[in-house]
Amino acid sequence: MTTRCIFCEIASGRQPARVVHQDDLVTAFWDIHPQARVHILVIPNQHVTSLREAEEVDAALLGRCLQVAARVAREAGIAESGYRVLTNVGPDAGQSVYHLHFHVLGGNRLRLALG
Ligand code: C5P
Repeated sequence: MTTRCIFCEIASGRQPARVVHQDDLVTAFWDIHPQARVHILVIPNQHVTSLREAEEVDAALLGRCLQVAARVAREAGIAESGYRVLTNVGPDAGQSVYHLHFHVLGGNRLRLALG
């Protein structure tokens, strides 16, 4: 049985999104419900459920996600003012899409919400 994954569909171009970066490993696109002036998601193109699977995937894939996070932040003009990169893992963290994604948030002063 295959379950529909919205982020797999965005990565493959089957679902529209405001894509700002795509390469053979990673896709970055604007979040549809932004929590800051800049809110971009960086995802691996291949399906990875969450960071919980980190040791089961190629370390280069995870590294590329973070490189692209830094790149899209720079291109969005928030590298100097500062930004946050975070990923939610599982229910207690509020993960709602079970395809690994890194939130890139900035463009305004961010609230500190640690739990
Ligand atoms: O960390 P979490 O799983 O809660 O984040 C999922 C994010 O994906 C949300 O910020 C939501 O707005 C975003 N999203 C999106 N496009 C979709 C579905 C969800 O940008 N089609």
